[in-house]
Amino acid sequence: MILELKKLFAGAEESIPFDYAMDLSGTEVDNAYPFVSPIRVTGTAAAKDGFAELSVRAEYVFSIPCDRCTRQITQNCVNSFSHVLVSKLENEEDDRFFEVPDGRLDLDALVREDILLGLPTKFLCRDDCKGICPVCGRNLNDGPCGCGRQSGALGFDVLKDFIQ
Ligand SMILES: [Zn+2]
Ligand SMILES: [Zn+2]
Repeated sequence: MILELKKLFAGAEESIPFDYAMDLSGTEVDNAYPFVSPIRVTGTAAAKDGFAELSVRAEYVFSIPCDRCTRQITQNCVNSFSHVLVSKLENEEDDRFFEVPDGRLDLDALVREDILLGLPTKFLCRDDCKGICPVCGRNLNDGPCGCGRQSGALGFDVLKDFIQ
């Protein structure tokens, strides 16, 4: 969605509300496509003395395999962002402001970037996820697998036979 901000910057319009759905199903994160629902984007751009204040709320379902145990994690996410939009940056170094030189803001691109920047670096089904057993592949969150104990018992039996 393109937001026309010229009137806001000129003070001729108070605010522009928006409420729409955006598709990120083709966006890849860690070799997965986790944006399984449309992103519902709501908010406003409001005029403030020559600049505009953008408030965005993004709501979506996020589904990705756990980094440790590969079990699928699916959760409802709500992210809130705000930006100060200006038609011209006074100081290029100042990252508190977002420049929209032609008054046309590509809201989809900005929201997509905000969502991706806000993602955690690791996806865990729970903080203390125990992962999977490297030997038998069982999900250790479901309890101990016992394969280590079995191989120990086998070793003992072999030894016993040898002594006899
Ligand atoms: Zn896990
Ligand atoms: Zn095991």
